[in-house]
Amino acid sequence: MTHESIYLDHQATTPLDERVLEQMLPYLTHEFGNPSSAHAPGRSAAQAVRSARRRVAELVGAKSDPEIVFTSGATEANHLAITGTALASRPHGGHIVTTAIEHKSVLAACQRLADHHGYTVTRVGVDEHGRVRPADIAAALTPHTVLVSVMHANNEIATIQQLAAISEITRPHGIALHTDAAQSTGWGLLNVSELGVDLASMSAHKLHGPKGIGALYLRGGTPIVAQQTGGGQEHGLRAGTPNVPAIVGFGAAAHLITSNAVPSPTHIQALRDQLQNHLLHTLPGATVNGHLHQRLPGNLSLTLPGIEATDLLDRLPGIAASTGSACNTGNGEPSHVLTAIGLTRAQARATLRLSISRTTTDTDIQQAATLITHAANTLIRPASTA
Ligand code: PMP
Repeated sequence: MTHESIYLDHQATTPLDERVLEQMLPYLTHEFGNPSSAHAPGRSAAQAVRSARRRVAELVGAKSDPEIVFTSGATEANHLAITGTALASRPHGGHIVTTAIEHKSVLAACQRLADHHGYTVTRVGVDEHGRVRPADIAAALTPHTVLVSVMHANNEIATIQQLAAISEITRPHGIALHTDAAQSTGWGLLNVSELGVDLASMSAHKLHGPKGIGALYLRGGTPIVAQQTGGGQEHGLRAGTPNVPAIVGFGAAAHLITSNAVPSPTHIQALRDQLQNHLLHTLPGATVNGHLHQRLPGNLSLTLPGIEATDLLDRLPGIAASTGSACNTGNGEPSHVLTAIGLTRAQARATLRLSISRTTTDTDIQQAATLITHAANTLIRPASTA
């Protein structure tokens, strides 16, 4: 690392794996062809895109490569999935079901359909662990529902949703099921066949790939209309010259996971549990957010009563962490995810998100635990002066 800090913000983004960079470099230099061109450099670029598409398809258990549509990231994939499917299904109805804890890009896409296209949107709540009850999804459906969008794993509290059970509810009605899987894909948790989802959004920079590239998994036969039209690239669903080096990087990052060339999630979970146990022990009153078991292995969302998380981070210049999701940072509003699981505004403001990944070391964990404990203790006023 060029930074001195201990990086505990892997849910915001992950460092590029050097093996991924190596595979990208030729496509940033001499392999510069446009994959749509018929000559040798173009064919070489097209072959690289084909290979990357296969690798991403393998990572998520897609049946055929054309089911992967490359986009600029999960934000774009979410917009394409939600707007594209809703508009294509308009003759069948104008109702969408989503949840209260979705990423802002999902909520924004739904809101836009409501504001400009007359759709109605139902936002289903979650329990105190951040789980959507499949029965609540079933209860929200109407004869006009055309799309259900439920994220796979949350970006703040990392709770994993019961998508297989939800797809059993949507499938018999012919309702498309979309999931924002930006946070879960890199853990090898997204298997579109097992989960029964029709659309899934992904982002390479959450799995040690490059930024600015992602994909939408689109099950064959799912109705959709393109949102960016022009040159007909990506099976006509996303026009624009493909970002070949980034696509190659996404494929390389996916292949590292499917070929078991990265530390196991179990190892990372053990490090997370070490950090969690240490902080729960040294900071009485601290509580863990999210589901204790159905949670991403690298996430630790902690509420530290009586502490402003921003003050705590100010006292921790050696640690790069977050008070909530990176996307919420700066707007001053308490996180909609934390309030949805029942935290008060004060509790939400007292919440720290620590997220680790394959580059986190044992030493990082030990040092971070000591530094956080020390900084938190300096902020907690002794009872006599309270
Ligand atoms: N969805 C979730 C759950 C995310 O965590 C993120 C990244 N913060 C996104 C969508 C957006 O991804 P991208 O940065 O690739 O647009």
